Amino acid sequence: MGEPTRPAAPALSPADQASVDARMMREALSLARRGLGNTWPNPAVGAVIWHDTPEGPRVVGRGFTQPGGRPHAETMALAQAGDRARGAFMAVTLEPCSHHGRTPPCCEAVAAAGIARVVSAIEDPDPRVNGRGHIHLRAAGIPVTVGTLAAEARRVNYGFILKVVDGRPLVTLKLARTADGFAASPPGAARLMITGRAAAAKVHKLRARHDAIMVGIGTVEADDPLLTVRLSGLAGRSPVRVVLDPDLRISPEASLVSGPAGPPTWIVAADDASWGAEQGLSAFGVPVERVRRTGPGGPPDLRAVLASLAKRGVTRLFCEGGPRLGEALAAAGLVDQFVLLTAPRRLDGPGVPALGPALQAIVDDRSQFEALGPVMLGADEMRCFRRII
Ligand SMILES: [Zn+2]
Repeated sequence: MGEPTRPAAPALSPADQASVDARMMREALSLARRGLGNTWPNPAVGAVIWHDTPEGPRVVGRGFTQPGGRPHAETMALAQAGDRARGAFMAVTLEPCSHHGRTPPCCEAVAAAGIARVVSAIEDPDPRVNGRGHIHLRAAGIPVTVGTLAAEARRVNYGFILKVVDGRPLVTLKLARTADGFAASPPGAARLMITGRAAAAKVHKLRARHDAIMVGIGTVEADDPLLTVRLSGLAGRSPVRVVLDPDLRISPEASLVSGPAGPPTWIVAADDASWGAEQGLSAFGVPVERVRRTGPGGPPDLRAVLASLAKRGVTRLFCEGGPRLGEALAAAGLVDQFVLLTAPRRLDGPGVPALGPALQAIVDDRSQFEALGPVMLGADEMRCFRRII
């Protein structure tokens, strides 16, 4: 090994350095995205360690937050870089942690490894960090540049940020509709299969990037879904399954309760729901969270529902609950991303309209939501509407 040498870093102009920083941060962000849906309650972070050379940046370490949130991205990248971390630069998508958890904070590891400069996208809003990571690094004599690709980093970390600052997870709502705008046939009619295989595969990929999937009890009663990720390569990435069931109507025979072994199922009920039903579910290992109703006999308070999930660590929630739940979330201002699938076929008959006024407003409102797409998935069209943050 010998004495670690500090490579002669060519002096880049500030503009060239900023452009290299951005390039390394872009790579760190794509590493971070790999952890989405898999690191909660911790944020999905990416880190890249490099040396500037006359031929351009030479990357010596890459890392992203591991399943369950540990080890952190910085630790992974430092382990890969080994001695080559000395004198190198590090790009990291979120401020390195400064608090002692189960492992020593990343700030100390970064300083101990001899990193010469840190490029950080944004401050960590977690009150235990909140700028202290950057302060700690600077106190150790390490220059820190903050704000590189900050908007992209905020987007990647948006679920974690919302959990910390707003006490709720990010909500992605998915709805499928026929060409003439229906989400389902009338109650009692045969189940309406709207979209095709390519769209179904996309939905499974989206599920895997979230921490939990939520549906309403009506969807469980109509479809008895499994809500797992059934794509090769992504098995084992199935999020927790959440059923919003105010009156605890769910049958113990439902696949989500007593079906094939899968990820945990949680039920969210109203605070006045039957305790007997809750005991029946606990026999299957299905926990029940209770939240307040909006009024006597009214629907559950959706903000309280989301807060109860955030308390359990959920940062990213994928809602496949059907048009009524979707409309209620949108009306409460609780939809952050809306994925709308439109099939070429028509229902041509009575049915349940997919978009209520609040969802239609998201589709039409370019001041608060940006529109992405359309993208064709087989014969189906996908459009996404993302809250501008
Ligand atoms: Zn850390």
